[in-house]
Amino acid sequence: QAVVRFEDVHFAYIPERPILKGVTFEVPAGHTVAIVGPSGAGKSTISRLLFRFYEPTSGRILIDGQNIADVQQTSLRKVIGMVPQDTVLFNDTIGYNIQYGRWDATPEEVREAARLAQIDRFIGLLPEGYDTPVGERGLKLSGGEKQRVAIARTILKAPPILVLDEATSALDTFTEKEIQDALDRVSRGRTTLVIAHRLSTVIGADEIIVLDQGRVVERGNHASLLELG
Ligand code: ADP
Ligand code: ADP
Repeated sequence: QAVVRFEDVHFAYIPERPILKGVTFEVPAGHTVAIVGPSGAGKSTISRLLFRFYEPTSGRILIDGQNIADVQQTSLRKVIGMVPQDTVLFNDTIGYNIQYGRWDATPEEVREAARLAQIDRFIGLLPEGYDTPVGERGLKLSGGEKQRVAIARTILKAPPILVLDEATSALDTFTEKEIQDALDRVSRGRTTLVIAHRLSTVIGADEIIVLDQGRVVERGNHASLLELG
């Protein structure tokens, strides 16, 4: 289990407009930390820095004590799994989309990942099962189904660190509940950073960090933050 640490991280996309103004937090091994806050606060910027899409202006980002400035992006991608906000599937079969990046996985492992992501019953109803083509020329999946395929792919990869960026925000309530359950199972016991809009979706997080205008303004668990109003 990996530890992620942000140490006094400052960042600006353009020099005259600072976005992160000294952000410090830690995601302990196996814990889930959620970053919440208003739109534009800098939440997604935090996940972009973690993947080294950008470099901090000052401060450090450490994984297991190592500054990620010294780690290749390709190595980072192996360590950090991401469940994206908008899932675009490859124009291939459902099985291919789940297994992508884990070509050594057995059919049993693929099925187990689909089961955890709660998409196995849906696949079971398709005449071609895992061989069903999806994407532009194949079966059109709903947003929730696509999201669950992406979750199954993440489960199969079992990355030491998981980043969930607004994964459930665009979905209807029923689907959101199912996806939330699947994500809860993915994140359990795994070092997880959740980027979320609403406090209601991160009830189970070990720590919630409230970001506003690039600064940490509150931190606590769900109950203590509700007391603050
Ligand atoms: P959040 O995820 O909290 O909504 P973001 O981290 O996406 O916020 O963005 C924080 C701020 O940075 C916003 O004001 C946004 O307009 C700005 N921003 C995001 N990406 C860029 C970019 N590539 N260039 C310049 N400004 C950006
Ligand atoms: P713990 O580490 O306390 O056992 P989990 O790791 O199972 O808890 O999950 C922590 C909480 O993070 C979940 O209960 C859920 O509320 C929240 N969570 C997980 N994934 C997401 C997500 N994609 N969007 C919002 N919240 C999420």
